[in-house]
Amino acid sequence: MKLRDIYSTDKTNISFEVFPPKDDFDGAKTDKLLEETEILKQYNPSLISVTYGAGGSNKDKSYNILKSLVERNINIMPHFTCVCSSKEQIDSYLNDLIDLNIENILALRGDEPQNNDICYLDFRYANELVEYLNQKTDFSIAVAGYPEGHVLAPDLKTDIQNLKKKVNAGADVIITQMFFDNDKLYKYIDLLEKENIKKPVIAGILPIISYKQLEKMLTLAKVTLPKKLIEGLDKYKDNKDDIKNFGIDFATEQCQDLIDNKIKGIHIYTLNKSYSAVKILENISYQACI
Ligand code: FAD
Repeated sequence: MKLRDIYSTDKTNISFEVFPPKDDFDGAKTDKLLEETEILKQYNPSLISVTYGAGGSNKDKSYNILKSLVERNINIMPHFTCVCSSKEQIDSYLNDLIDLNIENILALRGDEPQNNDICYLDFRYANELVEYLNQKTDFSIAVAGYPEGHVLAPDLKTDIQNLKKKVNAGADVIITQMFFDNDKLYKYIDLLEKENIKKPVIAGILPIISYKQLEKMLTLAKVTLPKKLIEGLDKYKDNKDDIKNFGIDFATEQCQDLIDNKIKGIHIYTLNKSYSAVKILENISYQACI
């Protein structure tokens, strides 16, 4: 089912993100990931998305996971980045996806290399990739949105103008970066509406599983931590189970509020573990979402 159809109803759709495991020399981590996706599948997600390394660094792993999920009858959405990739490389991978009968794609620029190498080849920004995908394929296209602005954008206003370029190029839905303050999302949606950007905005929710992991992610993103979250992190950061349970409670409140406010979709960043996602779904009025 295409994104534009999934998000055309009034319910709040639930979806999940997974990533190809790193250092998976014997395939055990991928097997474990597929077990986790079997658990997630029982909750009828609208889709499961699979990340893709900038420059195609994990292209084969990402493809193999997509193929396994297709074989398990899961509606999937590959992420796809254009930074450091040529048109020929992009065409070749797109053909692989088309052969898998995939209908949706998350079109991204991807992070630039940290060694200051400029490696724009045929595409510099995601809007150029969206335009290309729209001309060459039938994919329904999602793009990334940043409720507090992209980390490299001078300000939120400019970033929204750049998001508008992606939407005008043919994006059907916007999936956000993680955020922890729902008001930031609601204000963002208001700003998008004022700019006549009327595509569904899907809320990216990260259930915190580990303090260290969160710290690392925060170095790559512009995200405000509300007082309640800072206090909880301070209190529970040294105990693995406590922080996980706190993460579940915090994300549960966030998700319930998003459902109450009729947000079109919640995309849970699972970090390849079903446990927190499942607990959150059990806590919220999830039946309304299926
Ligand atoms: P763009 O939309 O191109 O924006 C990048 C920056 O350039 C922004 O600051 C923007 O304001 C500016 N900009 C955009 N267009 C223009 C223009 N035409 N002219 C001037 N400036 C412009 N990364 C991965 O490597 N793999 C993944 O699988 C992945 N999945 C993600 C999923 C989600 C939901 C999100 C929110 C992010 C994901 N990322 C992923 C991270 C993403 O690749 C980075 O945030 C990247 O730096 C920006 O990608 P983008 O598609 O938003 O780029």
